[in-house]
Amino acid sequence: MITDPHKSAAAVKTLAGQSGFDLVGITSAEPLPKAGQNLLQAVEHGHTADLSYLNRHPLARSGPQSLAPWARSVICLGINYNYFPVEVHLPLSRYALGRDYHLVLTEKLQLFSHQLGDLLGRDFRSRIAVDTTAIMEKLLAQRAGLGWQGKNTLLVNKTFGSWIFLGEVLTDLDLFCDDPVASRCGRCRVCIDACPTGALSEPGFLDARKCLSYLTIEYRGDVWPEVARKAGTAKEPGQCLYGCDICQQVCPFNCHTPRTLHEQFHPHPELLDMRFDDLTAMSQPQFERVFAETPVARLSYQRFRRNSHLMGFCKAES
Ligand code: SF4
Ligand code: SF4
Repeated sequence: MITDPHKSAAAVKTLAGQSGFDLVGITSAEPLPKAGQNLLQAVEHGHTADLSYLNRHPLARSGPQSLAPWARSVICLGINYNYFPVEVHLPLSRYALGRDYHLVLTEKLQLFSHQLGDLLGRDFRSRIAVDTTAIMEKLLAQRAGLGWQGKNTLLVNKTFGSWIFLGEVLTDLDLFCDDPVASRCGRCRVCIDACPTGALSEPGFLDARKCLSYLTIEYRGDVWPEVARKAGTAKEPGQCLYGCDICQQVCPFNCHTPRTLHEQFHPHPELLDMRFDDLTAMSQPQFERVFAETPVARLSYQRFRRNSHLMGFCKAES
């Protein structure tokens, strides 16, 4: 049985590599100073729009122990999902081209947690977290040494950039922790300047109400806010049929990300040859075939068509 925190942490790292994770780091389950307060402020100012997973109990996100009071350590794991070279401009967010990461990450984290018990030769408590779970995963990942939270609010790693899915295992194991990573953004602000809607009004601060990712994925209305219509007229058509990668695409740390080795995140072969017009002309059966089990499928064909229409509407106004 392995109980020593250093040896246990080494076992975690070995298993993470064997399990196909590209990044792994460990941090304590101690609270994140100011995290909950900052989110509360964002909620009070309306910057989280109607994103209910953020608006519910923002202060509870101030630390992993709000979610799992028994937790002592957090294992932070990351997977590179990028398939295309950065210069390829897509009207769909890159994260949405392959199998839904909630499904992939959940399966992988469950298996990892189970196998870790075998490797350590002991039982332990654990809880896995992916994306919308009520913890501040990017701040935890930064504290665990996976990267830093860039001015575009995303976790940036020096090798993989921000094309990373994150997942966590909260555990009652005592594990030796990694050192946090300092920001390497420096004076760069190209992501802020490139944002077509001004949603990134200041470093690390996102107003979801103006963000094309929010508007094309979460927003339920049929008429876009003025800010998005202006952005549509200013940009190439079709950049944002589902999500928006503009503030990632311009980031210098995203230029040399190797292609993901995870086949589950490879796009459907039909998508490889499609242009904007092919996408907007898709029939419902084709949509369901090409986007089966991807995040785009959750949007529904009707709202995909709505986005196509809104993009076309924006272009017609220019
Ligand atoms: S995703 Fe697009 S709209 Fe949203 S902050 Fe980034 S560049 Fe701006
Ligand atoms: S574009 Fe520049 S400022 Fe923005 S996240 Fe990347 S390095 Fe940081």
